[in-house]
Amino acid sequence: MSTPSLEPVRKTIALFGGTFNPVHFGHLRMALELKEVLGFDEMRLLPSHQPAHRVEPGVTARARSEMLALALERCPELQLDERELQREGPTYTVDTLETLRAELGDEVSISFCMGLDSLLGLPGWHRWEQLIELAHLVVVTRPGWQLPLQGEVADLLSAHRGEAEDLKRSAAGRILLREQTLLPISATGIRSLIASGRSPQYLLPERVLDYIQTHQLYKSENQENL
Ligand code: ATP
Repeated sequence: MSTPSLEPVRKTIALFGGTFNPVHFGHLRMALELKEVLGFDEMRLLPSHQPAHRVEPGVTARARSEMLALALERCPELQLDERELQREGPTYTVDTLETLRAELGDEVSISFCMGLDSLLGLPGWHRWEQLIELAHLVVVTRPGWQLPLQGEVADLLSAHRGEAEDLKRSAAGRILLREQTLLPISATGIRSLIASGRSPQYLLPERVLDYIQTHQLYKSENQENL
């Protein structure tokens, strides 16, 4: 990779990846708050095709992405980025960031947002050491988690830990830890409510719920939907 620019960056773009199976208010609030509080120019939600480090979910990638598009229809603050759905085979974050960096150049700041639980598992990710060369990492800490004191993640943190302003000063290379309250909603919880015949209303946008009902998704936890 070429040397990152030392000038202030031209633009700040954040990515919030996930399976979004289905998208819910926890995801949407988190993305919106990060965008507003950290002042990103763009916040893109990035549905994963075949999560390389997770079991392939039963609902097609297309359906997950359509639900996300419905959820974002009335929110101009958040964008949908479908690039991982256009790739064949497993999705590796490092490949996505490489493509994006090649597209945007070295004067755009890219921040990849993740939970602390993901940061702790980072050494298991494909070419994980290169992630920090390509983007900043914005790590949302959840109550109850402790930062590691030793090991590869502790070393990464002590070499790269930065502050919010760094995301506007450089294109990549810093880790920002941000404490944020999470709504107690999970996609797993929503899927099991539906599978047991209960309603997930008020946990996710109405339009997404309509889509789930129309397409009869998540009726049975073991069923391959669509
Ligand atoms: P599942 O229950 O299937 O594991 P999930 O609801 O955790 O799904 P993912 O698609 O796996 O959703 O997560 C995408 C991103 O959203 C991850 O970075 C995850 O940490 C974050 N996330 C998940 N639930 C919440 C929540 N309630 N509030 C904020 N962020 C969340």
